[in-house]
Amino acid sequence: MNNRVHQGHFARKRFGQNFLNDSYVIESIVAAIHPTKQDAMVEIGPGLGALTEPVGEHLDVLTVVELDRDLAARLQTHPFLGPKLTIFQQDAMTFNFGELAEQKGQSLRVFGNLPYNISTPLMFHLFSFTKAIKDMHFMLQKEVVNRLVAGPDSKAYGRLTVMAQYYCQVIPVLEVPPHAFTPPPKVDSAVVRLVPHQQSPYPEVDVRVLGRITLEAFGKRRKTLRNSLGHLFSTEVLDQLGISGTLRAENVTVAQYCQLAQWLSAHPPQQTREE
Ligand code: SAM
Repeated sequence: MNNRVHQGHFARKRFGQNFLNDSYVIESIVAAIHPTKQDAMVEIGPGLGALTEPVGEHLDVLTVVELDRDLAARLQTHPFLGPKLTIFQQDAMTFNFGELAEQKGQSLRVFGNLPYNISTPLMFHLFSFTKAIKDMHFMLQKEVVNRLVAGPDSKAYGRLTVMAQYYCQVIPVLEVPPHAFTPPPKVDSAVVRLVPHQQSPYPEVDVRVLGRITLEAFGKRRKTLRNSLGHLFSTEVLDQLGISGTLRAENVTVAQYCQLAQWLSAHPPQQTREE
């Protein structure tokens, strides 16, 4: 049997389609999400409804964002889910989660077995709406979850870690083997819970500045800060901030990146000022 066909649908690789087929895994994910009628739930990539159906059982209404026109049409005519669903047949990367939260009059609970090919940029898109989001539960490549939860001084600690932890508390939920999907992905997967900070442990910073610093630092992660960020921070400034110029990007904590971002916002480089 062609293992790309699931419930009569040919899985499209370009849409990152790997459909969940394991009822134990599905139940565990739904239990972790714990949907209630009061929640404004939004699913990204409902596909053939593996999560939509059991989550929908707990709800009167459910919003879904699905790029694949055939799958969106299929959901529209789903016998018991159809009437509960508000279906946006569009790219989640351009979806305005803030506007939806405003319409709903409450913050959103977002979940999904994400298309792995766009999961990192999609999370960055969602981070820009964290004020409108209560929590997020995502199936991701295990390696991506490892990066999200990593601490400093480890290989997995990177730009995604710093940005995710600046915005959210990150909690790993469960690991999922390839055979829980049709077709099976080539990598292990894991579910993660991301809870935007109500009271952030970090000072508020300009995220564009934080983004720039982490991009430049981790772009040269083998180099010391003196080398990778020397054009933005002199050794004296790093000393003044109590951050050694001999550290490498992966040795710098999220709080220290925030310190750097605050300083840089207050002292924009000459070039930026002239722009
Ligand atoms: N939720 C289903 C499940 O668990 O079996 C399907 C998950 S599958 C990994 C990813 C889903 O996201 C597919 O239904 C795919 O069509 C959809 N998708 C892919 N790219 C998307 C995008 N940019 N915006 C919204 N949905 C997308």
